[in-house]
Amino acid sequence: MKKIIKMIRNKWHKDLLEYQKEIAQDLLINQAWLLFQKHDIDYVIKNKTWFAEYTDYVDFQSDRNVKDFVKRSYLFEYWTPPYIKAYCSVCNTFSNMKSDYSKGFYTETYNCCGMGARMRGMYEYIVNNFEKNNRVYIQEVLTPSYKAYENYFGDDNIIGSEFLGSDKNCGEYYYFNKHKIMHQDCTKLSFRDNSMDLIISQAVFEHIFNYKQALSEILRILKNDGCLVLSIPFFYDSQNSVMLAKQEKSGEVIQIIEPPEIHGNPVDGSGALAYWHHGWEFIEAMKDVGYRDVKVHFYNNLYKGYLGLQSLITGMK
Ligand SMILES: [Zn+2]
Repeated sequence: MKKIIKMIRNKWHKDLLEYQKEIAQDLLINQAWLLFQKHDIDYVIKNKTWFAEYTDYVDFQSDRNVKDFVKRSYLFEYWTPPYIKAYCSVCNTFSNMKSDYSKGFYTETYNCCGMGARMRGMYEYIVNNFEKNNRVYIQEVLTPSYKAYENYFGDDNIIGSEFLGSDKNCGEYYYFNKHKIMHQDCTKLSFRDNSMDLIISQAVFEHIFNYKQALSEILRILKNDGCLVLSIPFFYDSQNSVMLAKQEKSGEVIQIIEPPEIHGNPVDGSGALAYWHHGWEFIEAMKDVGYRDVKVHFYNNLYKGYLGLQSLITGMK
């Protein structure tokens, strides 16, 4: 008897999950359409994307609203719709954005202009907060993001680089796939002190074992009142950062947590190894290194295809 009840219960749970999945998909798509019909384009563009900033873990933990939000958004983590009609702040149009949620992250989905939600959100933040005549260094050059920032800041004002291997010289140009690109190692940048207004770093800091050294190098080349804007896979529920792999002084890499976590890399088909899952300890490290006004900015905007709890981090010199 117990067994039968258990079977019925399991079946009921399964049906309910399927049902909720359909509802959740319809809900999101319809909600988006309803909102679009209700508001004009100006409203959509100006609609608040940035809803919360926090300076440390305790600050974050003490906010009940964000906890409620995380709980609610959790539902859609599994049942995100297959596509969304959303507004792209890079090309300034509505487009049908396909979810690529198979990767399992909100941040890498709803693509437009070759950029996923994480990169489009970063772009929106940057163009809303920084003037075109800023002197900018960005830690990438072969990407659609680089092109977008080059268009915005102007090619005279922006400089980009890639890490091309530890045998290369920082600041020198090398041919890569017929492109002449600059090599930089972020732990020993070739730029002068106090030479940049803005530094943009997207999904780089999880790949630098000695990330504190890289943070102080960036601080060195920033002008006073200059700003670092970065994104990392940010583990907001954790105070501590988790070391996934370790780099010895000899350069040898020792994997601590198996299997190795490898992310896509535009200059290396074999990918880039992640050394860290950064928690709020990363924010404390930025403060220790000497950044002021360090903040984690969380955002979400259904109109623009930024689902879930997305984040970027800023610090001033
Ligand atoms: Zn676009």
